[in-house]
Amino acid sequence: MATASAIKEIVKKEPGGLIARAYAFAEKAHKGQLRKSGEPYFVHPLAAAEILHTWHLDDATIAAGLLHDTVEDTGVPLETIKKEFGDEVAFLVDGVTKLGHIKYRGAENETTSKAENLRKMVLALSEDLRVVFIKLADRLHNMQTLGALPPAKQKRIALETDEIYASLAYRLGMHNLSGELQDLAFPYMFPQEYRWLLSISKEHYEQRLKYLEKIKPEVEALLTKHGIKPLDIEIRAKRYSSLYKKLLKRDMDMGRIFDLVAMRVIVDTLPECYAALGVIHEMWPPLPRRIKDYIAMPKPNAYRSLHTTVIGPGGKTIEIQIRTQAMHDENEYGVAAHWLYKQRQAGGAPKGGERISGQKLAAELKWVQQLKNWQEQFTGQTTDPEEFMRSMKIDFFQDRIFAVTPRGDVFDLPAGATPIDFAYHIHSEIGNSAIGARVNGVVVPLDHALKSGDVVTIVTQKGKKPSEDWLRFVKTTVAMDHIRLALRKKMGSPAWVAAKAPSRAELKITVVDRVGLIKDLSGVIAQARVAILSFHTESAKGGKLHLNRVEIQTGDRKKIEKIAARMKEVEGVREVSYKVV
Ligand code: MN
Repeated sequence: MATASAIKEIVKKEPGGLIARAYAFAEKAHKGQLRKSGEPYFVHPLAAAEILHTWHLDDATIAAGLLHDTVEDTGVPLETIKKEFGDEVAFLVDGVTKLGHIKYRGAENETTSKAENLRKMVLALSEDLRVVFIKLADRLHNMQTLGALPPAKQKRIALETDEIYASLAYRLGMHNLSGELQDLAFPYMFPQEYRWLLSISKEHYEQRLKYLEKIKPEVEALLTKHGIKPLDIEIRAKRYSSLYKKLLKRDMDMGRIFDLVAMRVIVDTLPECYAALGVIHEMWPPLPRRIKDYIAMPKPNAYRSLHTTVIGPGGKTIEIQIRTQAMHDENEYGVAAHWLYKQRQAGGAPKGGERISGQKLAAELKWVQQLKNWQEQFTGQTTDPEEFMRSMKIDFFQDRIFAVTPRGDVFDLPAGATPIDFAYHIHSEIGNSAIGARVNGVVVPLDHALKSGDVVTIVTQKGKKPSEDWLRFVKTTVAMDHIRLALRKKMGSPAWVAAKAPSRAELKITVVDRVGLIKDLSGVIAQARVAILSFHTESAKGGKLHLNRVEIQTGDRKKIEKIAARMKEVEGVREVSYKVV
């Protein structure tokens, strides 16, 4: 960590200011408290405030960062914070306090606890992003000082950091933070792998660094000669955690890692990005298929840059990333940088006052809207944390791809998404009436996995209805929901189906298969006068037993229990369980 304290500087410069007052208040409140490391507790909120300062956040956020543990850990009433520092700071401190400390309830409840924390983060996120920034700064410092905790705790915190906080930072476009959190977590999660990685890669790293340092002046001279002024040329080593992930995909072959150390060229304007790329390609031939234009087609977390891998002097490959300063700031600080620019455009110094709500960001970050929708879905009904986690995993944690319509509209989808997912993202009617698809001009099956950059044409036929089969392969909740809705309509709404909000249940029936079994099972459901929404069969392990998953349209537990009991009597049925969705 930097030795110079930017916060102490501010305190000195503006002794009566918000930050100075928060500093004095928090230092006094935490007096006598010690961290696990034995240091005075105040070191921690101060470090969190320093981190928030490096993200260029406003004074209110930095003050709240200093105060973030006072209510929770020193018993200062929130009212006092409000009186001393005003509504805005109190709102932020309260938000962080409500997010709370992670409560571990043992391994059997880990999913629940993770999901619950995640849910809280999402709620905070949609109210004011700054609460989440403070939480992320808090977590970053806790990870930097994780060594002081007992090993069992270290591992759990590291896992959670990797799974929740790093993913969230990534989704917020805070690339650097996301990588840093992953790198801090990695040695605790995989100590052996980490040691192995250090031993096999150290030499490679050193060689690559030396090589790129030698090339750097050549690149600088080349660009200058062509009238492009590089503002900065950075040489950056790949993080260990991301190297490890890549090695897993490349058969652990270091020779197949091209971006172990990359060169980052910052230029002044967008046209200069492309000009620099052209000039570099003229000098050194690019490797085919390794030119990536994330400017024309940004990553879903808004990352923008040009990437290329060229064959440099001595036949060695060099990965070069080219971007403007603004793109660079956004890539590093993500939403935080974005917010700063907005503030600057509004003409004010970043003094705060404006809440960064999920609503506002929704236009730029579609997934924020998606989170908000989930939030709405989950408020007003008891949250099933596992269900929440599942839907988050489907749409949130997986890698994303971009697919394009022939007209050039870009859709952001999870990896593995199919033409049907794509169709439903264009419009529900296109999804419902889809009968075929072409990818880059070639006819593909409807369950084909799309890749980034695919141009997808959906063939539709008027009046067609979706097939139940689609539920087996679609990857997005959007598609699933629309298909279910259309299937329900297709079946017609029987008179006994209540018009109010539909609820569903999923039955899991383990059977020894025989002819006529499915007919008998659906007979039981029909007898109970409940509509079947979907029905699929998969062979369970061993092959003898089959698992049927049946979605039915009722949330009435008595009814479901009755159905389950009747099913158990059907010949061949071994086990029946159910879950209300
Ligand atoms: Mn804290």
